[in-house]
Amino acid sequence: MANKVLVTGGLGYIGSHTVVELMNQGYEPLIIDNLLNSDISVLDRIEKITGNRPEFQQVEMRDKEQLQEVFWSNNNQIVGVIHFAAVLLVGESVEQPLHYYFNNLTSTINLLECMNEFDVKSIVFSSSCTVYGNPDQLPVSENAPIKPSISPYGNTKKVCEDILKDASIAHPLKVVSLRYFNPIGAHKSSLIGEFQSGPPHHLVPFITETATGKREKLNIFGGDWNTPDGTCVRDYIHVSDLAEAHINAMEYATKQSVNSFNVFNVGSGDGYSVLEMVKSFEKTTGVKVPYEIVDRRPGDVEAVYADTTKVTNELGFKTKRSLDDMLKSAWDWEQALAKE
Ligand code: UDP
Repeated sequence: MANKVLVTGGLGYIGSHTVVELMNQGYEPLIIDNLLNSDISVLDRIEKITGNRPEFQQVEMRDKEQLQEVFWSNNNQIVGVIHFAAVLLVGESVEQPLHYYFNNLTSTINLLECMNEFDVKSIVFSSSCTVYGNPDQLPVSENAPIKPSISPYGNTKKVCEDILKDASIAHPLKVVSLRYFNPIGAHKSSLIGEFQSGPPHHLVPFITETATGKREKLNIFGGDWNTPDGTCVRDYIHVSDLAEAHINAMEYATKQSVNSFNVFNVGSGDGYSVLEMVKSFEKTTGVKVPYEIVDRRPGDVEAVYADTTKVTNELGFKTKRSLDDMLKSAWDWEQALAKE
């Protein structure tokens, strides 16, 4: 039986962890990646973790012919697609909206056209809780209204979901869209994690870089939000838990009838404030993180955490790793990076 899963953007942060989980569960991932925001060394690292080297092709998904070639040479072997490939920096998307719309939309459309052409039906899409904006009710469920996006990046996630939904009505597709909350941490081997060039883009790498002394202090964006301690609240999930959710989602998609479209929140269901994250990190690692509360960051959402009822009941997915595990693995990764 074919068990090849096409993983677009499979050398990125969430993609690489998902490839490891796919291999652990007996699937044969076929990675395509344009290497724009990822590092080819991740292939060696995955091989070190799993003992096997996954198949990889450098492909530019905006070029449909390159993508068709992948489907052609793997005809009748691909059971499903997990689609991570995207440009994903919020700030950069404000400066380069056309690049963001062109890249994220064209690659998704080309992928769906190839799936139709080569009769591949199941797709898991990486969406984001940014589609909920500042939710009116917490925890936020999949039925919450979609809010106008603050950034072009966020809007590409919403528009891609619309494209997938419309395509699933017109074509024999089985779509699962996973709305991620905040993935953090790294694989327990510390061989893969979030690589970044330049300054971090997210809270936890800022915390770990401050802990190493690379940064003098952490800036906490706003201490006057309407939350218990005045700092913003998010739902953090271990990247390896999030990776596992993709296997549940892939298997769920294949069991659905065609013309299906389902969305799931993937978070831990717990909300932690920025200050709680700093304190937990200090407690877990014993390392101090100097911080200062500064002005609010424009576009920030006050509080968001997931209602996980649907993902638990329908996908059978539950997170296994604690906040301690997340922060400890993030710290181990930071130290492994420093050694390199
Ligand atoms: N944050 C912060 N200082 C930083 C980076 C982030 O206080 O240097 C806060 C940010 O305002 C937000 C939370 O940490 O409330 C998570 O931010 P991140 O950028 O990681 O995720 P997102 O805002 O996309 O949920």
